Amino acid sequence: MRFAILTLGCKVNQYESQALEQAGVLRGHILCDVSDATSLDAYIVNTCTVTAVSDQKNRQLIRRLRREHPHAALAVCGCFPQTHPGAAEELGADLVCGTGDRNGFWDALEAVAAQKGPVVTHMDNALKRREFEELPAGGLSGRTRALLKVEDGCCNFCSYCIIPYARGPVRSLPLDKAAAQAKKLADDGFREMVVNGIEISSWGRDLPGQPALIDLLEALSAAAPGVRLRLGSLEPRTIDEDFCRRAASLPNLCPHFHLSLQSGCDKTLKAMNRKYDSARYIRSVELLRQHFDDPGVTTDLIVGFPGETEEDFQKSLAFVEKCAFSALHIFPYSRRPGTPADKLPGQVPSAEKKRRAAQAAQVAERLRLSYWQRQVDRTFPVLFEEEKDGLWQGHAPNYVAVRAAGEALHNQVRQVRITAVGGESLLGEIVE
Ligand code: SF4
Repeated sequence: MRFAILTLGCKVNQYESQALEQAGVLRGHILCDVSDATSLDAYIVNTCTVTAVSDQKNRQLIRRLRREHPHAALAVCGCFPQTHPGAAEELGADLVCGTGDRNGFWDALEAVAAQKGPVVTHMDNALKRREFEELPAGGLSGRTRALLKVEDGCCNFCSYCIIPYARGPVRSLPLDKAAAQAKKLADDGFREMVVNGIEISSWGRDLPGQPALIDLLEALSAAAPGVRLRLGSLEPRTIDEDFCRRAASLPNLCPHFHLSLQSGCDKTLKAMNRKYDSARYIRSVELLRQHFDDPGVTTDLIVGFPGETEEDFQKSLAFVEKCAFSALHIFPYSRRPGTPADKLPGQVPSAEKKRRAAQAAQVAERLRLSYWQRQVDRTFPVLFEEEKDGLWQGHAPNYVAVRAAGEALHNQVRQVRITAVGGESLLGEIVE
């Protein structure tokens, strides 16, 4: 069977799509590009439902595929069908799966493709899941950076977020299995792995003895010493003295920490049901800076959350300045039906959300430039990924993009001295 996978949403979805790709190819199916002119036998849409905009994108894509490929088997899986029973069927899917039983997915798709009949639904109740479903890490397409999913689910119930309903409670990949997957990625030639999950700060809480994330990182570092480890998004509570001391002694851990902030105003954080205040947050940032040499500290910020006044927003921005992030992802608050925040009073008009997002973007730009300027004259091991306009581009351990001249550098790590700040990246020269 010739098939294509279209992926919407986060890194966990990308990882799960890669695993579905591998499983399909192992069964003898042929992975194709969706842009192939001819119709394929099956199309798989791995959906996201993090915002109402994501839902709109899911709907558009499913509708388009159904229209363009009326005879192909159309499978829809992921967070959207898990939280919207009946929607994918209405849009024309032949097979509807959720975020569970990815291993059983191909049995169901093969049956549907062999004999099209009534819509098949292959779904469980996410909130009842207790086991982490292990999937193969890596991918097929010669990527430089592999994703290693070590955790699924979330128990935080932030008031704006639907994900706990789509993914269920925290389940962790046991330490020995994670280390075995890391070793396999190293053997497969990957030079960097991103340790990710829905909420990796909670990794281990469901395992015997409740190991901590830092225990996992030590095991991964030992299992794959030649591979750089990069961490997915962390909650500030993870960063304490013990974490920093042990993390700083891991030779292959990238000094890049994405610490979810969402708001720098304590009143808004409380309304968001986030489990920290700005004082706890800044303590995490300071600890990281004490233990690592000018690490990349990045974050997410929501602007225009219900009830956020102009004064609250300015507090949030001032806090962002204080944290001096190297990069900032800014999201105007997006209403998500089914979440408590959707019912909060004080919804902010879209034009005002846009204005706040634009103002926050100016601050983010200033902070980014200041971080980049500080990197000039430093030397980093850069992992090169692709050639663009005659220069090779890759990332330094602190996740700043770097470009340099060279030959055939794909998947190579080279020491690069940063010489200047360019438009979209730092510029450097290879020194060894
Ligand atoms: S931590 Fe909050 S925002 Fe992140 S997945 Fe969990 S509930 Fe959603």
